[in-house]
Amino acid sequence: MPMKSPGCIFCRVVARELPATLVYEDDQCIAFEDVNPKAPCHLLVVPRRHIPTLNDGGEEDEGLLGHLLAVASRAAREKGVRSFRTVINTNADAGQTIYHLHVHVLGGRIMRWPPG
Ligand code: 5GP
Ligand code: ZN
Repeated sequence: MPMKSPGCIFCRVVARELPATLVYEDDQCIAFEDVNPKAPCHLLVVPRRHIPTLNDGGEEDEGLLGHLLAVASRAAREKGVRSFRTVINTNADAGQTIYHLHVHVLGGRIMRWPPG
């Protein structure tokens, strides 16, 4: 899988070609504010490497996947949010619209269960 996919919005955010409000970054991932927030706190945690969906993560990505969750918690804490929901939409029927793996971090309001 190439590092970067031409035309991918999140690859462009990672490359700082598109603006985003960054909350956290390291050598593996970045976290930034969702442009169309569905909750008072809505962050996206995005690996720097272009992985289209969770189904495309290989065995070698298991460490990275765990790291994304650790960063999700850290980024929520940065925003002062202790109660939050993490979501990964995988493929169209689950609501995925951007095909570069990302973890949603939603908080700051009561989250209903089950989700729609
Ligand atoms: P998905 O539907 O793929 O699970 O989530 C994609 C998310 O990316 C949506 O919540 C959408 O609001 C957000 N999004 C789409 N384009 C941009 C953008 O250019 N910048 C930022 N910060 N978020 C975006
Ligand atoms: Zn990408």
